[in-house]
Amino acid sequence: MTSHVDDMRVQLDIEDIPNRWYNIAADLPEPLPPPLNPGTREPIGPEDLKAIFPMNLIAQEVSQDRYIDIPQEVRDAYVLLGRPSPLQRAKRLEAALKTPAKIFFKREDLSPCGSHKPNTAIAQAYFNMKAGTENLTTETGAGQWGSALSLACSIFDLNCTVFMVRISYDQKPYRRYVMETYGAKVFPSPSNETEYGKRLNKESPGHPGSLGVAISEAIETAVHGKNSKYSLGSVANHVMLHQTVIGQEVMKQMRMLDLKPDYMIGCVGGGSNFAGFTFPMIGEKLKGKVDTEFVAVEPTSVPSLTGGKYEYDFGDTAGMTPLFKMYTLGHEFVPSPIHAGGLRYHGMAPTVSLLTKLGVIKPVAFRQKDTFAAGVMFAKAEGIIPAPETNHAIKAAIDLAIQAKEKKEEKIIVFNFSGHGLLDLGGYSNYLSGKMNSSA
Ligand SMILES: *Cc1c(COP(=O)(O)O)cnc(C)c1O
Repeated sequence: MTSHVDDMRVQLDIEDIPNRWYNIAADLPEPLPPPLNPGTREPIGPEDLKAIFPMNLIAQEVSQDRYIDIPQEVRDAYVLLGRPSPLQRAKRLEAALKTPAKIFFKREDLSPCGSHKPNTAIAQAYFNMKAGTENLTTETGAGQWGSALSLACSIFDLNCTVFMVRISYDQKPYRRYVMETYGAKVFPSPSNETEYGKRLNKESPGHPGSLGVAISEAIETAVHGKNSKYSLGSVANHVMLHQTVIGQEVMKQMRMLDLKPDYMIGCVGGGSNFAGFTFPMIGEKLKGKVDTEFVAVEPTSVPSLTGGKYEYDFGDTAGMTPLFKMYTLGHEFVPSPIHAGGLRYHGMAPTVSLLTKLGVIKPVAFRQKDTFAAGVMFAKAEGIIPAPETNHAIKAAIDLAIQAKEKKEEKIIVFNFSGHGLLDLGGYSNYLSGKMNSSA
């Protein structure tokens, strides 16, 4: 290994991009409850997913193999994302907090879209291209996932159709311009492109839309289109799998520093950045090799892990998907309009849910205002403006660093810096001007 080791920033070389993904299914203490057909409540088989996903991704979704090879074309595309990403030390934040703890953060903000999401978008576009898909459809809230998939489709020459939650389409147009620049077609959802969208627009004109509605529209379009498939940005097993490039790199970087994390922290919407960051290390913990604690951070206003029920529920609002066993607030839950759009999903990845149920993952929830206070402190100390989602992880990291100071312990705190906030400055403006609702 030729990488230069310095604990301010641990860089890896291109050949250090992992050559396989880690599949937590192989190491789970008990099997993942299977998805069910909502009509019969019988487990669905791989065949039942064929209308929406290509067989090669379905095979990954149900795989029990511990490792799955990353094709060379995907590793090449990961270079375009700036992989491997650095692990950076937040020394100025440590100094500001006067903590003996060491705080590290994984730079997933450096991809062209500014988040971790292209790690799976690239893989999904590649496997769809290989399977003969020509059109990919998806949903997006504020546009992080839509821009990641648009980028990936432009790399592998697929058409991309994105249903964007209407209120974001109207109020946050910049990521729409990103998607359109990459060549995607973007519709405000509910749209008049689908039967479901038309019905909603007729029943409630001016419907603001929601992620659940947009998922239903994207699935309807994939099912009825020719050579069309649907692509999901979080929650599914194969999405968690693709994101494990993050955590495998972190493990290598921590080994180079000769340090073991006491805490690994990530924010959770559907669970993918958290899973990608922690699952490789959780695999070690399940084998008794480390005693790292894993902290999943969510908003108090969308508390699926801390306030939801562990039960079977639909993945979308219209009830078109199979039933998944997960922590859920109910598929008809309407979240309050917080700035962390990526954390507003009613459910949680089944793998993250099971590991939370088993006590391996510890969930916490914070109020929006407190997370922005943490984000502003981080920006002033380290110079990077975090995504509102990422602010949740930062808040947890700061709290643990303060706790370490009180106990005079030199803890190693590592969090996933899931994205930057340069297209979410409206949230910062709201916070800085004192207009942010203190109850949410
Ligand atoms: C989408 C997003 C999230 C939340 O999604 P997960 O699937 O839970 O990772 C978090 N941070 C950023 C920056 C995002 O774009």
